[in-house]
Amino acid sequence: MSRPKRAPKESTDRDRDAKVKPLIEYWAEALGFSRDWIISYRFVESLVEGDDDDHTVFARTQTLANYHKAVIGFDRVNIDNAIAEELEHTIIHELIHIAFDNTYSVITKYLNDYSGVGHELRDSLEGPADRLASAILALKRIDPFVTYNDKPEELV
Ligand SMILES: [Zn+2]
Repeated sequence: MSRPKRAPKESTDRDRDAKVKPLIEYWAEALGFSRDWIISYRFVESLVEGDDDDHTVFARTQTLANYHKAVIGFDRVNIDNAIAEELEHTIIHELIHIAFDNTYSVITKYLNDYSGVGHELRDSLEGPADRLASAILALKRIDPFVTYNDKPEELV
């Protein structure tokens, strides 16, 4: 006699929160956002848009740079399927976007964004955000003493 197979346990937003929250808190502090920025997040059904079909979109961030506020939207399904390093990379990547968005908002303000240069500028930052996130993760791998329970040392 065998038991009926159980369906794999579905993640809830509470499960996702437990994975995402410590990483955001850690990296927001490490990247200097925690003092004067409000960075929140939410989980959404799907972030796939038009030309995103060829790659997995884990998150997308909206920033109100003037108000020092940002909201990171995480794709529920893609986050559930992400391995730990992908999730951490995603969070660092999104925080780097937030840092760039400050400059980006100044530029688009003066261009009035009629030229579409705003979108192009943001797209052009995908590569640098990825490279920086990878480098930061590589540095963390070198220092085995970094854990999520440690607060990063005060930056001078
Ligand atoms: Zn990005």
